[in-house]
Amino acid sequence: MSIGRSEGQQLPPELLAKFKTIVGDKHALIDHGDVAPYLSEERGLFHGRSPLVLRPASTAEVSAICRLATEHKVALVPQGGNTGLVGGQTPHHGEVVVSLRRLNKVREVDTASNTMTCEAGVVLQIAQQHAAGVDRLFPLSLGAEGSCTIGGNLSTNAGGTTALAYGVARDLALGLEVVLADGRVLNLLSKLKKDNTGYDLRNIFIGSEGTLGIITAATLRLFAEPREIETAFVGLTSPAQALKLLALSRSEAAGLLTGFELLSQIAVEFTIRHAIGVRDPLAGKHPWYVLMELSSPRDEAQTSLEAILTQAFEDKIVDDAAIAANLSQRLAFWKLRDEISAAQKPEGGSIKHDISVPVAAVPEFIARADIAVGKLIPGARPVPFGHLGDGNIHYNVSQPIGVSRADFLARWRDVNELVFEIVRDLSGSISAEHGIGVLKRRELPLVKDKIAIEVMRQIKATLDPLGIMNPGKVL
Ligand code: FAD
Repeated sequence: MSIGRSEGQQLPPELLAKFKTIVGDKHALIDHGDVAPYLSEERGLFHGRSPLVLRPASTAEVSAICRLATEHKVALVPQGGNTGLVGGQTPHHGEVVVSLRRLNKVREVDTASNTMTCEAGVVLQIAQQHAAGVDRLFPLSLGAEGSCTIGGNLSTNAGGTTALAYGVARDLALGLEVVLADGRVLNLLSKLKKDNTGYDLRNIFIGSEGTLGIITAATLRLFAEPREIETAFVGLTSPAQALKLLALSRSEAAGLLTGFELLSQIAVEFTIRHAIGVRDPLAGKHPWYVLMELSSPRDEAQTSLEAILTQAFEDKIVDDAAIAANLSQRLAFWKLRDEISAAQKPEGGSIKHDISVPVAAVPEFIARADIAVGKLIPGARPVPFGHLGDGNIHYNVSQPIGVSRADFLARWRDVNELVFEIVRDLSGSISAEHGIGVLKRRELPLVKDKIAIEVMRQIKATLDPLGIMNPGKVL
């Protein structure tokens, strides 16, 4: 497939002037210093180059950009908050960046229908606050929520810590507005839960990582704001015990269970060592920990949590537990969880995996991966943590102490291969929530059904025949 002008893309001055006219000079960035923040992401893993960053403020401007890009075969990279972890938002080959951050209006909140229509550039935390302002919950929640955008969340089908109870981004969107590569505006902005009028086009764009079109707005589902949230930090001996606690919690609390995160001892140690103001909520050390949360619109969460933990102690599933006594303790428990990725940085290089396996297979996955990684790189330090309730583990591996960071990171593909082999064997996925981007593009054909890849290519060719939408990503 052709990838438009992106290879070493030079824009003729007349074309540059036309792009500038669409968004205004101030929002067409060409100076190195202005463009630089859009070219690399926070971890510094991916670096790109681009002659131009466009910052449209409306769907009409996005549409005009796409029309002009199609006319001149100019490759585009949509970008939201630039927090993606697989290099999907980076212009690796000199593409024009289309930053959606100025599309930042909440167009409508409809409390009777429990919906909120946001433009793509609305920051997730702002969307949450808007919902809270009308006594509703928009439950999507992730570590990057202060910077990531609704458009980015939908394009990556983000998961996060509440997927257990409320589902992933896909489950939270009722409708979408998308600008196609040729500039046509596809209006799928519906508030309907029930609408069986043919193919589900909305879901083709969700999770497509900007390769099929640019999402400009979405109608999102809102929920009742919980009145009571109870959080516990639990010490236990193994992921198998954590699974027993999950099963017990589900049978006791059913729909009240809104969070269930598994943390390895080393993940907790790194965070306590490196994150400011983080303390261990428990008196002694434990091989594994669970951070669990129950939420309720009535006063049921506390009784339920206490009943679960009492039973778990009796059944010798858990060894110690602390229940947050107030909001600041609850936030401190979550800080311990949220800072894990950042706390790995001072420990040197970290090779990341965002995998999922059937929930029951998580203990086997971790045990097998630890052995395989230990054999390949003696002294390597696996730091598994993540959303146990979704079978989604961030199986990160920190470098052995005292070795060169660069030498360790050079083994990235070797470690991936080993881990992905185990994931395949357990019928799992090599990308549970971060997407494919460029990071896992090479591996996708190895793990995905051949016909599925063919159909994906056919959809791409239909919607983006010139290959100008985020070329080189996913496929
Ligand atoms: P970007 O990074 O800007 O873009 C991501 C992808 O979406 C790119 O392919 C881009 O081209 C495309 N895109 C962006 N906006 C649009 C648009 N409007 N239309 C079409 N395509 C678009 N992810 C999780 O799923 N769960 C987590 O728990 C989680 N935790 C994280 C914690 C931290 C500290 C960090 C840094 C990241 C985390 N992420 C997590 C990853 C990331 O935050 C999500 O992928 C997020 O959804 C990306 O949103 P963004 O606006 O930053 O998108």
